[in-house]
Amino acid sequence: MNPIKVAVVGYGGMGGWHTERIAKMDKFTLTGVWDIDPAQLNNARACGIHTYTSYADLLADDSVELVVVATWNDVHKPLCIEAMRAGKNVISEKPVAMNLKELDEMIAVSHETGKLFTVHQNRRWDEDYLTMRAIAEQNLLGKVFRIESRVQGSRGIPGDWRREKGHGGGMVLDWGVHLLDQALTMNDQSPLQSVYAQETHITNDECDDGFYCELQFANGLHYSVEVTTNNFISLPRWYILGENGSTVIEDWDLHGKMTLVHNWDKIDSVPIKAGTGITKTMAPRTDETIHDAPLPQVHGQWTAYYDNIYDAIRNGAPQTVTHRQMRRCLKLIEAVFASAKTNRVVPFDEDA
Ligand code: NAD
Repeated sequence: MNPIKVAVVGYGGMGGWHTERIAKMDKFTLTGVWDIDPAQLNNARACGIHTYTSYADLLADDSVELVVVATWNDVHKPLCIEAMRAGKNVISEKPVAMNLKELDEMIAVSHETGKLFTVHQNRRWDEDYLTMRAIAEQNLLGKVFRIESRVQGSRGIPGDWRREKGHGGGMVLDWGVHLLDQALTMNDQSPLQSVYAQETHITNDECDDGFYCELQFANGLHYSVEVTTNNFISLPRWYILGENGSTVIEDWDLHGKMTLVHNWDKIDSVPIKAGTGITKTMAPRTDETIHDAPLPQVHGQWTAYYDNIYDAIRNGAPQTVTHRQMRRCLKLIEAVFASAKTNRVVPFDEDA
């Protein structure tokens, strides 16, 4: 084992998370952290972590091979570019950049310097997401034609830089980037055709405090993503519809079930009373033709993300979160903003 020496820039919530995880992995050693806020540097020192005197001081440390950028979103680009130019490999926190133009500049520097450059899309290893994917990819419901993915909060936008556009605030760039990356990764080989989106501004005029979007993929899948911060009753994290069954995954703790039809053709029923009328169409099925099944068990190993970084740097393995995927996700974010602004369906050009 030849551990990779890592420095973290930005020692807030996520910088702290990275330093804790790095300390637990044999493949990595933390050299220290840098933050523009002296109080954060004091916090780091109180945890026994070495602090650099400036970003230049961090980059001048020849032992550092990998820099993790965990700052506000608006400074990811300059910090990542400076690090690559100083000969360091780079992981940026998500969103990797404020827009596609910035990302293209960052990718160009990665090519020019030959340094690894990727983004921390840790939620590709979330077990709720992997469970949804297993259900769809193993055809447990037959062909899946609709997926609803949502996260719902009730506390507005946290009272920090996330409320300010200039720092890259708003929920599209915060939670949206995770949920959109999940949708695209699952449909890596199926072109995305169109996007329709709406933002909410219930508690914040400057930045979206939530959004809803509909993604239409060429394989027929209709995939919706919703992020809210003003909901006091939450809908399930996942709702999945297939030809032969439906699934609800309630939450990150994987409560939920699949309901499967085992006798599709037995569709006749007596009408039921519904509101002020009657209906046969909406009469629920009985146990004669449907049954419940537990969710499949899927285990996500988040450390797979850092394992891949190690293999990519030490052994030349391809990076899991690729430049193509990073561009596709930022292109989608731009389409979400464009659709929300115009209230129109936006065609998605995979080749742009
Ligand atoms: P935070 O405000 O808690 O921490 C950010 C820190 O960056 C602050 O301490 C700030 O002083 C520092 N900083 C800002 N500009 C700097 C600069 N130029 N140089 C050095 N330090 C600087 O924010 P956070 O919640 O930790 O978010 C940080 C990043 O992590 C954001 O990009 C966010 O989107 C991302 N994030 C990712 C996840 C995830 O699950 N992957 C979760 C939360 C946040």
